[in-house]
Amino acid sequence: MFHGHMEPIFAFGAAEIPSFAKRNYWENPDGPRRRNILKIMRINYLALCIIALSAGAFLASRELALMPDERLHVYFFDVGQGDGALIVTPSGKQIVIDGGPAGGAMLRELAERMPFFDRTIDMLILSHPQLDHIFAFPEILRRYRVGRILMTGIRNDLPRYDEFLRLIKEQRIPIWIADPKKDIDLGDGIAIDVVWPEPALFGKKMKDVNNSSIMLRVINGTGAAVLFSGDAEEKEELAALASGADLSAAVLKAGHHGSKTSSGTGFLIAAHPSLAVISAGKNNQFGHPHAAVLNRMKALGIPIRVTGSEGTIEVAR
Ligand SMILES: [Zn+2]
Repeated sequence: MFHGHMEPIFAFGAAEIPSFAKRNYWENPDGPRRRNILKIMRINYLALCIIALSAGAFLASRELALMPDERLHVYFFDVGQGDGALIVTPSGKQIVIDGGPAGGAMLRELAERMPFFDRTIDMLILSHPQLDHIFAFPEILRRYRVGRILMTGIRNDLPRYDEFLRLIKEQRIPIWIADPKKDIDLGDGIAIDVVWPEPALFGKKMKDVNNSSIMLRVINGTGAAVLFSGDAEEKEELAALASGADLSAAVLKAGHHGSKTSSGTGFLIAAHPSLAVISAGKNNQFGHPHAAVLNRMKALGIPIRVTGSEGTIEVAR
């Protein structure tokens, strides 16, 4: 990495030499040319030191900012038109929910929030196997060592999904099938409360992939929760409501990128969030988030933040 910086500096030094008096060096080794060479060497050395120091300072401040701080951090990445989020627990465990759409933003955003030498991710969660939620997952499996996978295990004809499953098998990563009866204790006071769907979807081919999305709450020690609902539409929201599950959340990651098919009034009332985050691309072709959803949220007094308009959104509890 530093090679690129070093070359121009030496090139600068070398390029300067011919412009000095060449003739009398051997006759007068302490003459002006030798002094000039020493001066250039000192300048180069100083430049190298400054570059090394500023690179070190930059790395140190970046690493310091990424140190665990005993709070739960959730980053809703600005990945364009899709979903990708990172959860960092108080002790620094990392959980990735969805892998964004094509375009590279997911890998970039993730790398920016991973400590420099940390190549492990504790868990990947795939809400549902569609391209705007899974795109970077195969590459994440190649770049990081992943501890386990949480997914529904539905069938879907999608080459990215096949590749993802093949890599999981190759790397022998344990798979957990989402089940509302089995919550996941992440340690340090953080739990994942799987809300929906039933594990019976495993191995099934769905006509309606959106409504197979994993809905889950990430709960911290004080009971504040962040509710993720994938691309769940009203049909799945109503099923979750009917199951009697606790949907209350401090933060709601609104379903299906703020589409009008999702975030029904009953669901919003049950979640009763103090913030709704919508992950949607700037000027996307679908018109997400839909005005009807924004109006419903406004009517209930829920503040709204959208990744497409403000970039990656971080909440810490
Ligand atoms: Zn989606």
